[in-house]
Amino acid sequence: MTDIDGVVLDWSGHFNRYLKQHHPELELMDPTQFDQKQQIGQLIEGFNKTAWIGFLQPLRDAADVLPQFKKQGWTVIACTSMGSDQYANSLRKMNIENHFPNVFDRVDIIPFMEPKHEWLSQYKGSGATWVEDKWSNALAGVDQGLNTYLMRHEYNAYADNNNVKKVDNWQQIAGQVL
Ligand SMILES: [Mg+2]
Repeated sequence: MTDIDGVVLDWSGHFNRYLKQHHPELELMDPTQFDQKQQIGQLIEGFNKTAWIGFLQPLRDAADVLPQFKKQGWTVIACTSMGSDQYANSLRKMNIENHFPNVFDRVDIIPFMEPKHEWLSQYKGSGATWVEDKWSNALAGVDQGLNTYLMRHEYNAYADNNNVKKVDNWQQIAGQVL
């Protein structure tokens, strides 16, 4: 199981390009923290409903490595808290399918910035693997007994937990679980 933004797709890179074009006076500090500035939080929620959300690029080596999981018979499921606008949700699924054809068995979309405890609880004790970039959602995976990985970024590298394995790319995950 995997998060999408900051793990499968390069959300920050795309959002920063959007800011440069439409709000050159602003700068993104930490894309997983809703409260860094209320103005940014509202901008993020709005951005997730723009046409831009259909055109994110894969993060790092995701497009090279994720298909290997599928080829080896894994079920690949995503959970993304992008918000619930139906057309934005369709764009997201199209964007994922464009870069990862037939890789994802399911893409679950939950409300904007909603914590993932409840979603993850359906896999409690399953031994499934969980990949996140948001620290609180990584810990939520640990709480459910999942094999949890944190995709390392500048904004999350400070955090530590014995049950969260930090990685820099998908190859490092594949090397441990495939
Ligand atoms: Mg994320």
